[in-house]
Amino acid sequence: MNKRKGILVVFSGFAGSGKGTIMKELMNRYPENYALSISATTRNPRPGEEDGREYFFKTVEEFQELINKGEMLEYAQYVNNYYGTPKAYVESKLQEGYDVILEIETQGALKVKEMLPDTLLMFVTPPDAETLFRRLTGRGTEDEETIAKRMAQAAHESTLIPQYDYLVVNDELEACVNQVHSIIENEHCKTKHNKDNIDQLKDQLAFYSK
Ligand code: 5GP
Repeated sequence: MNKRKGILVVFSGFAGSGKGTIMKELMNRYPENYALSISATTRNPRPGEEDGREYFFKTVEEFQELINKGEMLEYAQYVNNYYGTPKAYVESKLQEGYDVILEIETQGALKVKEMLPDTLLMFVTPPDAETLFRRLTGRGTEDEETIAKRMAQAAHESTLIPQYDYLVVNDELEACVNQVHSIIENEHCKTKHNKDNIDQLKDQLAFYSK
């Protein structure tokens, strides 16, 4: 069998779903399997964020130039800012055999699925709306109006979940990370990701059945 090729994985979820924590844990546990794409954005860095680590922070003009030069795999506008996935990193890591994870919002996710139908799309939710509300208020960093906006955004995003391949419920972190890893591992067994292996096997068998 050939060395396996990387799969492109898109991971989306409501603000407050814990998707960032799940991704961090997945990367810590399986650094030899996964590469997490670093997006470009026009939003300002939050305290503690570093350019090139959480995001590549760009001006609107710089971001526009990346689009014009065809260097973005996808991009979307979200809450008055642009966010996009630089193409080069994704392509090179997939070639190297890593499963590349894009942690992106729903518009971008669905664009990627349209362009690259072999992409695996996962959506993560808390067990219920009340838990989401408690998690958002529990952070203590956002005012009532912002929380109401996030809940309205979540209500809109929930209508798009059926277009994803998998729904993952983040009730308990360990269990959720295990489940995400298993889904991706199982995806590697799909015949569509094993075309070269199947052809190779067919050739080998033809040799024996002459
Ligand atoms: P935040 O500003 O909280 O870091 O991110 C806001 C939203 O933008 C999140 O839902 C995040 O997943 C999404 N996002 C981050 N990077 C990208 C990207 O490259 N493309 C798209 N379409 N969305 C992104």
